[in-house]
Amino acid sequence: MKISKHRNLSSITSFETGGEADVFVVAENSNDVEKILQEQPKPYWLLGSGANTLISDQGLPGTTIQMKLDSIEINGQEAIVESGVNWDDFVQAAIEMDLWGVELTSGIPGSVGAAVVGNIAAYGQAVSDTLAWIDVIDHGDESPKIKRMHKKDLDMGYRSSMFTKNDSNTIIILRACFELSESVTTELKYESALVVARELELDVDNLEQRREAIMETRRRGGSLLDSKNIQKTAGSFFKNPMVTAEQAEHVMEFEERKITKDAIKKQNVIHGGDAMRVSAAHVVLASGFERGQAWGPVRIHPDHALKIENTGGATSQQIYDVAKEIQNTAKEKLGIDLEFEVRVMGHFD
Ligand SMILES: Cc1cc2nc3c(=O)[nH]c(=O)nc-3n(C[C@H](O)[C@H](O)[C@H](O)COP(=O)(O)OP(=O)(O)OC[C@H]3O[C@@H](n4cnc5c(N)ncnc54)[C@H](O)[C@@H]3O)c2cc1C
Repeated sequence: MKISKHRNLSSITSFETGGEADVFVVAENSNDVEKILQEQPKPYWLLGSGANTLISDQGLPGTTIQMKLDSIEINGQEAIVESGVNWDDFVQAAIEMDLWGVELTSGIPGSVGAAVVGNIAAYGQAVSDTLAWIDVIDHGDESPKIKRMHKKDLDMGYRSSMFTKNDSNTIIILRACFELSESVTTELKYESALVVARELELDVDNLEQRREAIMETRRRGGSLLDSKNIQKTAGSFFKNPMVTAEQAEHVMEFEERKITKDAIKKQNVIHGGDAMRVSAAHVVLASGFERGQAWGPVRIHPDHALKIENTGGATSQQIYDVAKEIQNTAKEKLGIDLEFEVRVMGHFD
């Protein structure tokens, strides 16, 4: 277990912003976590790889715990994966064992613990499709002990779970169990990936080739963290909102690829929503913002209206202010509530 004081957190977050942790600890196994809870000061802040988090420039009081528990055990169709494992390493391990169920989430940055927290999803497949249970420790308990929680108790929905619905929750995920399958579980219907597969002559009914198609689609879309055309972002800043039929019709006018409204509605359903969940990117554009629009070192990504990026030297507060401006404008002009998908930690003005 590595403990340091006044550790700058900007090198951990994908925004490359944020102040210092009073105490910073890397937990490598569940004993470390139990020891931290006995010995280190509250409050506790959890981090995986920081790819979905905006940390206050004033830093974090108490103890910031980076989860690096890293074992993957696959027996038959059951995978038990510790929360610090890089999500894509788990996806690759599953594919190597010829197991289906997570392959469409190939290339999503971040840890297994955070994947459960945010119920990450891509190309029609979500973590909740295969998750069976998690082992957790609750530091809100008088004498915290490891306990098991089943999926039905986690309130998982579109990019959400009991963890995102309650900011004051005190539960730390140690490991997660996934039930995978020896045969295909999710049909790949997502047009952009099918186009790539056709072009590269990849068979999307073959597990490895399906992964290749997804990785290439993400690469082309700038959605791989190591991709050269990605700046410092946390992926989509906002969740796709639920709107009225009238608002949906209006917002869909801002689709620039000239695809039909029926196709957009179908895509929204594949995204894990329903016909009335519109793309937050279209809401950003319909609110009057533009791709590539900059506020000093903070910019809306030139290709992805939903990604807010730090082009160099931005503070977390500057990023937060831009996100708030977008949120307030969407509410004022369109009456639409944009909810942050990015997790905010610590104090912001
Ligand atoms: C380029 C890019 C592309 C992306 N594409 C997608 C995508 O296609 N689909 C998608 O759904 N997301 C996507 N994301 C978002 C991101 O990959 C996910 O949110 C991911 O789960 C973040 O993992 P992390 O470990 O970095 O999370 P962190 O930022 O470290 O943590 C996120 C949240 O989880 C909590 N947490 C972390 N570990 C634990 C634990 N063990 N126990 C309890 N709480 C914990 C943290 O406290 C925090 O609230 C993308 C991000 C980027 C930068």
